[in-house]
Amino acid sequence: MKKITSVCPYCGAGCKLKLVVDNGKIIRAEAADGHTNQNELCLKGYYGWDFLNDTKLLTPRLTQPMIRYEKGGKFTPVSWDEAIRYTAKRLGEIKAKFGPRAIMTTGSSRGTGNETNYVMQKFARGVLNTNNVDCCARVCHGPSVAGLQETLGNGAMSNSIGDIENSSCLLVFGYNCADSHPIVARRVIKAKQKGAKIIVCDPRRIETARIADQHLQLNNGCNMALVNAFGHVLLEEELYDKDYVASFTTGLEAYRETVKEYAPEAVEHLTGVPAKQVRQAMRTYAAAPSATIMWGMGVTQFGQAVDVVKGLSSLALLTGNLGREHVGVGPVRGQNNVQGACDMGVIPNQFPGYQDVVNPQVRAKFANAWGIDPAVMDDKVGVRITEVPHLALEGKVKAYYIMGEDPLQTEADLGLVRKGFEALDFVVVQDIFMTKTAEQADVLLPATSWGEHGGVFTCADRGFQRFEKAIEPMYNVKRDWEIISLIATEMGYPMHYDNNQQIWDELRELCPLFYGVTYEKMGDMGHVQWPCPTLDHPGTPYLYQNNKFDTPDGKGHLFAAQWRAPAERPDDAFPLVLCTVREVGHYSCRSMTGNCAALQTLADEPGFVQINPQDAQALGIKDRQLVWVESRRGKVITRADVSERVNHGSVYMTYQWWIGACNELTQDNLDPISKTPETKYCAVRVSAINDQ
Ligand code: SF4
Repeated sequence: MKKITSVCPYCGAGCKLKLVVDNGKIIRAEAADGHTNQNELCLKGYYGWDFLNDTKLLTPRLTQPMIRYEKGGKFTPVSWDEAIRYTAKRLGEIKAKFGPRAIMTTGSSRGTGNETNYVMQKFARGVLNTNNVDCCARVCHGPSVAGLQETLGNGAMSNSIGDIENSSCLLVFGYNCADSHPIVARRVIKAKQKGAKIIVCDPRRIETARIADQHLQLNNGCNMALVNAFGHVLLEEELYDKDYVASFTTGLEAYRETVKEYAPEAVEHLTGVPAKQVRQAMRTYAAAPSATIMWGMGVTQFGQAVDVVKGLSSLALLTGNLGREHVGVGPVRGQNNVQGACDMGVIPNQFPGYQDVVNPQVRAKFANAWGIDPAVMDDKVGVRITEVPHLALEGKVKAYYIMGEDPLQTEADLGLVRKGFEALDFVVVQDIFMTKTAEQADVLLPATSWGEHGGVFTCADRGFQRFEKAIEPMYNVKRDWEIISLIATEMGYPMHYDNNQQIWDELRELCPLFYGVTYEKMGDMGHVQWPCPTLDHPGTPYLYQNNKFDTPDGKGHLFAAQWRAPAERPDDAFPLVLCTVREVGHYSCRSMTGNCAALQTLADEPGFVQINPQDAQALGIKDRQLVWVESRRGKVITRADVSERVNHGSVYMTYQWWIGACNELTQDNLDPISKTPETKYCAVRVSAINDQ
């Protein structure tokens, strides 16, 4: 029996665990003393490994390469040589006929690791010559990256998960940590136990609201109005730190001009939050010796998400809550390696280490390192995942190489996404399971899973952590980066790596932010946070020391914008607001957790729709009754969960189910900057199914 150190593959908290292996099989997981988890795990950490035994509970593993030679035909099992040759040939033909930008690629924010993401973007940029590479950050914290880069200079948490408990005030905005990051929720509880004030802004009475000093139960879709009202109070009541603002920020007058119309009393009808509660919240936040803002997808999955992120960071700037311990801004990233996917440049606007693709010097640096002509590199920002259906229907994207993503389950407005897929000429899916997207592929490339390979993840607080291989794979599968390298080589660009560390050292050399994060240092320290620019640098637990921001002028940029209404409002035909949410026992598209016996047992029905008792009564719906939920785009069946915790006029569904996926209902109104869809808001109607 042996114990292998790993990092949980299920959320950005980055908990360390030990996989206990006996006779080549994992038999249990034990908590380890990680930077964020301190010998604790949530149930996904403890029970989320048995999909590796190919349980076939939800869907079987992909066990060998397969090709569907004709549209609508059957998959044919093929050799790896044939799968690589065919994929390279088809991609090469499409590139030659339609140009590099007709091919879209994805990295993966899940268990594959940073090295693979680096190799995938190198393949896109260096071999296909397109910046069309993206990841699921687009549908979650893309707005946090874009917003924070503009106001503070880095698209990441400014602080550390471990330091949350030392803050004397937590402003938790649109973030249900008990369901999405249970171990981060432990830090919130510890902060409370140490005397911190907790302010929760959320339409639902989420778990954190139960221990909060204040719960501001705002109306859905009014984030910008409430954040502006916060800013208004800070200025009007002179609660802001005038010296700090004068010394370290810019943009105060424009900010003041915008928020002046947002007196809490003036926007009470919009936000639904009594003005005195808004004022009290800001008095508490501004008076705290240290304060931290945390947010989740309740901020980012709206058509005005980037503006709200910038507005939230402005509250921290106004009160001087940046650049020191126990304070900061924390977009708590969802998937375990979504921070890492962005770090590694699987985003269409930046190379690894957040270096702009439109900068010719940066392009030349990467081209020289990769041994290619800089002139062949794409000099424009590439396509985002959420734009693919539209561009496919317009004939501009012809091929889609998808690694470890399941857009036919996780993207908004699945009817639209399916039409986009039908318009594509060639789809390659590299994954571990036969997901909804894999079912539609032309080529299936089976990859090793977390547990079957090692690498480096980045957790939500910029911390790089190594994870190790625990078991040999059971099937004819290959490492993701090996598959990509073989395709690159077949397309005429010889690419070969012997191991993860070779890839890691190549990317370190190209990324000043990460240069000092060696494999040895990660081995010794366990968790090294970027920036880490030199070999003797210990990493950076909090950003913006001495209040020097990483913006072009070194200042923090204050920002406010006029509130914009969500794109689709409730009306007589569709009178309720649908908001998508998470479920504690499952993760992402559920392909992994749905194949874990203990987790599946926890929730073994096709989802739920949470509804307020008043709304349920008016519609004649009883608790646990089967119901239809219908929007202008689709209709799904699910079960009612009648709950006092839900606000009147809104209903809540998780997207993690294969039957009744709520993305049949959602709409793809995209934030104009980050192109993140408004999956937190669309209009629906709910009706009881009585003959059950
Ligand atoms: Fe895994 Fe996240 Fe749970 Fe930690 S909190 S055990 S990282 S799912």
